[in-house]
Amino acid sequence: MLTIGAHMSVAKGYVRMGRETLETGANTLQFFARNPRGAKARTPDERELRTFAGLIGENGLRCVVAHAPYTMNACSPDGHLRELAAEMMAGDLKVMEYFPGNFYNFHPGSHVGQGVRTAVVQIADVLNKVLYPELRTTVLLETMAGKGTEVGRSFEELREIIDRVKLAEKVGVCMDSCHMWDAGYDIAENLDGVLQEFDKVIGLCRLKAFHLNDSLNERGSRKDRHALLGEGKIGMKALMNIVAHPRLCSLPFILETPTDTAGHAAEIQRVKELLGEYGL
Ligand code: FE
Ligand code: FE
Ligand code: ZN
Repeated sequence: MLTIGAHMSVAKGYVRMGRETLETGANTLQFFARNPRGAKARTPDERELRTFAGLIGENGLRCVVAHAPYTMNACSPDGHLRELAAEMMAGDLKVMEYFPGNFYNFHPGSHVGQGVRTAVVQIADVLNKVLYPELRTTVLLETMAGKGTEVGRSFEELREIIDRVKLAEKVGVCMDSCHMWDAGYDIAENLDGVLQEFDKVIGLCRLKAFHLNDSLNERGSRKDRHALLGEGKIGMKALMNIVAHPRLCSLPFILETPTDTAGHAAEIQRVKELLGEYGL
């Protein structure tokens, strides 16, 4: 069964967000665990979180993915900012425990000139600070486009981080089709090859979620500009090959395309229709 949803706004509360998600025909969703541009967390009350947890499972939401704020940088050259990253992550993971068994996705960070060697150690340090044995959330490293000094453009960089995490069983990976394309991976013409490489370097068992986006730019551009499905350089056929791929089809697919809730509902409908043509 296809698990698909979109990035939703939590601004009007968790319960409203959950209901809106179900109305779009989605059975999963992603949301920012706090204001994406800042550090300030909207503190949800416990009752709201419990009602939202009820929507997951009982009402057909199969899983949820929380996304860390873009501003969080676990490999900042500034030690205070790295500490802040650990605090934010720990706080978000506390909220995630109200609906256990789900995912918390974050961008590994930007090394800002320190170099990848230093950065992977710092990112692993933050994870080693916040992960604990009883945690029931899997923390996902997102594959990045390689814009500026972004870490996580290659599978090898993600592997370097995971290798240094003590509770590595709590860590997984979220692929982003726009980011991988912009990073240079040919997911359109050589999806099997890319997956084989991921399996060799990281292991497909670590792949837990997929951000389904088209890209405005050519492969290898390192730009990270998302496009509507089928309206970018990756194209609808390649994106559908991802959704229908036997090693990927059971993952939660999250749209982060530049449109509103109604637009996402239409895209979800379109993916479902096209998937029918694959006999899935
Ligand atoms: Fe992201
Ligand atoms: Fe993404
Ligand atoms: Zn992106």
